[in-house]
Amino acid sequence: MDTTSFTKKSLGIDTAEPALTPPTGKTAALPKKPKMGGGKSKKRDIPEGLWTKCPKCSTMVFDKELDENLKVCPKCGHHFPIGSRERIHSLVETCTFEEMDAKMTSADALSFTGVATYKSKLEAHQKRTSLQDAVVTGLCRIGDHRAALGVMDFSFLGGSMGAVVGEKLTRLIERATEKGLPVIIISSSGGARMYEGMFSLMQMAKTSAALAYHAQQRLPYISVLTHPTTAGVMASYASLGDLILAEPGAMIGFAGPRVIKDTTQSELPPGFQTAEFLLDHGLIDAIVGRREMKERLMEYLTFLTVRKKAAVAAASA
Ligand SMILES: [Zn+2]
Repeated sequence: MDTTSFTKKSLGIDTAEPALTPPTGKTAALPKKPKMGGGKSKKRDIPEGLWTKCPKCSTMVFDKELDENLKVCPKCGHHFPIGSRERIHSLVETCTFEEMDAKMTSADALSFTGVATYKSKLEAHQKRTSLQDAVVTGLCRIGDHRAALGVMDFSFLGGSMGAVVGEKLTRLIERATEKGLPVIIISSSGGARMYEGMFSLMQMAKTSAALAYHAQQRLPYISVLTHPTTAGVMASYASLGDLILAEPGAMIGFAGPRVIKDTTQSELPPGFQTAEFLLDHGLIDAIVGRREMKERLMEYLTFLTVRKKAAVAAASA
């Protein structure tokens, strides 16, 4: 034991000495140095967990910090993808989310087989994400407002819209119409789910029709577009909002830029299909950061329901 500690000490001195002082033969001062170590092994604080590199500013962000910041880069404000559950948690009042149709799962009507069967893909995604499909729907309270909320999850088969996504959203909208509630749908999708063929495309008409009945009752619908919202989803309910909001930097469009470039045979303007570009060109109404989303939704809901509330108050007076 003594020998090992002695070698350690002398090693420390040996390495420190040449860098600090010229060899003057001052041996009396040397034994003091190892004392500072106190015999304790110096442990470096290695943080647990992982770091994520921001794709926009290349800063390494500690995962815990990223989670606390709702997956928004604290340096540059880049919005990382966020799961549907986390998003719901960030928007609704605690314990007010009553989920609807939580167990609804897709039937493989076409017995689709590509590289893998659709059934096996579904099972794998259900296991990996703990979700049954690409949307979570339910009634909730945001601030003082009761609302019907649907949140898509891109991690489940690219947020693709199959029969389950369409049906769950349609039921949500119909429930909102019945109860006189505003609808908020937060989209994030690669489009219709081609494993379900025609059944996935039918969802576009179905959800749009449900929204039309909802609008007939003069109830507000706020559509929130997040990165990315494209194709069949963008071509149906995502673009039908009374108010259409988007997260900063979100890619929004119908076909991909390469397809458009090839079809139109023309150069696309810079920033094409970003939320910022679409705001400038009038397709969306506002860009709202994720950290401000709840507050802004509350403001918009207050604004959009003020007449309805006044009418109810007048009728009951
Ligand atoms: Zn960043």
